[in-house]
Amino acid sequence: MNKLTVRDVDVSGQRVLVRVDFNVPLDERTGVITDDGRIQAALPTIRYLIEKGARVILASHLGRPDGKVDEKLRMTAVAQRLSQILGRPVKAARDCIGAEVEESVASLKNGDVVMLENLRFHTAEEENDPIFAQGLAKLADIFVDDAFGTAHRSHASIVGVAKHLPAVAGLLLEKELTMLGDILDKPSHPFAALLGGAKISDKVAMVENIMGKVDCILVGGGMAATFLKARNLEVGLSLIEGEMLETATDLMEKATGSGIRLLLPDDVLVANEISAEATFKVVPVDKIPTDMRVADIGSQTVKSFSEELRGCKTIFWNGPMGVYEIPIFAEGTIDLAKLLAGSQATTVIGGGSTAEVVADMGLTDKMTFVSTGGGASLRFLGGKSLPGVDALLDKESPAGS
Ligand code: ADP
Ligand code: MG
Repeated sequence: MNKLTVRDVDVSGQRVLVRVDFNVPLDERTGVITDDGRIQAALPTIRYLIEKGARVILASHLGRPDGKVDEKLRMTAVAQRLSQILGRPVKAARDCIGAEVEESVASLKNGDVVMLENLRFHTAEEENDPIFAQGLAKLADIFVDDAFGTAHRSHASIVGVAKHLPAVAGLLLEKELTMLGDILDKPSHPFAALLGGAKISDKVAMVENIMGKVDCILVGGGMAATFLKARNLEVGLSLIEGEMLETATDLMEKATGSGIRLLLPDDVLVANEISAEATFKVVPVDKIPTDMRVADIGSQTVKSFSEELRGCKTIFWNGPMGVYEIPIFAEGTIDLAKLLAGSQATTVIGGGSTAEVVADMGLTDKMTFVSTGGGASLRFLGGKSLPGVDALLDKESPAGS
């Protein structure tokens, strides 16, 4: 990674503004945090700053308040949870810019932590308003970006603020870029990409970019139906992206042309509807009934994908193999998640839903790395730059210049 990190700057006694991604899921009724994984992921940076005697000012968005104060989306619960985890007080500010916040930041002592109010209570945040960015920058001496999940957004707290302060990467951001960078730059071979999820249109850039690096691509999930259809198979009522048929054909030809094995399902679970009450059965891919739709991969496919993956040294997985939210369609996803968890290969997981499956199964620690960024990881693996990363100081240039 060619960006300066929090380790490269002297933070002792400094006011350090840290952009974190504390956009945690909340229970709709009680407002209780249902998964604090995103808070946990930022702990290395926060603990590092506390140890070094920095004055830590945390900033995040939470949910979609659309520029208005929403009592349900205040950062108070997040500050409380963080305080419990750290075993020290974490003050929750009532806003993220302005005189009152400035005062409360001025009273911080070395090692103290304050959590600013939800950035998206201001429309200025997503508009990347320069005055708002200045208001944030005014609070601090150094800016640390540790929010990989929002690194693909050009918001005030991500790119705007970096114009006014020495801006460096946090330890989570560094880890994300290193792990995802390594699978692009120096994967151990054989390298397999296991792809699924709803749509191929979301992922074409990523697939094209990793095409030059992988030895095989395994396609499941909803997107498999588009590939099957591109091979002139009947796919019934399956979710098809008509405008992607040509792309799918193209990708299959490219794979053949460059000696990459591209595996499609041998059999699929088809259902009359996508619901827990559906009637369903497993059929070979050339026997999909016209009045049913693909909802999961079949057991034969799990077997052939598993065989392929067993010989691999690097496995990148993005996208569930079926409509895993409904238990009767979750088997393919569950089986392959287990296989990856038990594998000796370097296993890297990208994508919001895929990370959620792995977390729900309690397997996050069994994977080499689970990215905290859905959209950001896809963009990065698509070979595109991330505005939040571009905004940071390069390794060569001296900090603060
Ligand atoms: P990720 O967030 O991991 O990148 P996606 O957003 O691409 O994954 O896709 C996740 C969604 O794909 C899930 O909601 C899942 O229900 C859906 N999905 C998977 N397989 C199918 C299928 N066969 N038909 C319809 N939807 C599917
Ligand atoms: Mg998704």
